Amino acid sequence: GSGNDRVQISVQDSSGTNNANFATPPDGQPGQCRMYTWTYTTPNRDGALENDIVVHEMTHGITNRMTGGGTGSCLQTTEAGGMGEGWSDAMAEYVWSEQKSATITDYVMGDYVTNNKNGIRTHPYSTSATTNPLRYSSIKTLNEVHNIGEVWANMLHNVYAALVGAHGFSTTAKTNPDGTQGNVVFLHLFLDALRLQPCNPTFVTARDAWIQADQNRYGGANKCLLWKAFASRGLGVNAK
Ligand SMILES: [Zn+2]
Repeated sequence: GSGNDRVQISVQDSSGTNNANFATPPDGQPGQCRMYTWTYTTPNRDGALENDIVVHEMTHGITNRMTGGGTGSCLQTTEAGGMGEGWSDAMAEYVWSEQKSATITDYVMGDYVTNNKNGIRTHPYSTSATTNPLRYSSIKTLNEVHNIGEVWANMLHNVYAALVGAHGFSTTAKTNPDGTQGNVVFLHLFLDALRLQPCNPTFVTARDAWIQADQNRYGGANKCLLWKAFASRGLGVNAK
């Protein structure tokens, strides 16, 4: 979007439990975020106290606004909505939560609110295909957006790991966007690709947007790395 819209947040909102949501109207109107309490523990836990959940919800605003030019209506198909969930998990992982050095760790979403080491998704995000076997072909049998999102988020976890493996890790990435390290490159490509991809992107067109984003910003320096990372989870040149 064009920027400067505030976000209105309701914490411990009484309209639900064990969840959170974010409504993204078009540019010019405030995003609306509701954070709920989670009832799996006594006392209950507050989703607003887990960065995973807060960043996940805020990222819905980013992806809905940046895809398709600020209309807030370009992640509407099941596949595109699923990737919306995936970007939100991915941003939660990289921006605030788990990755604090060049050593890539598996990432579990929502382990605080559930007080469960497995969190709220079916698998940890991982570079190990044993720990997380999800591949592009997995979406053929999935029709729920968070489940589809897990496939996309795990691909992005592997893209992140490849970029950090190649270019190292910046400990100042949150305040210095000019670094050349892999985590800085990752977030630039993540955001650039949102602007480049078409309205209602697919896995294939979203992947192509990452490749194009790298061409635009880095002259294609990471082209092979990106193709290999996506292909490692079944989203290579012959994916359709
Ligand atoms: Zn979500």
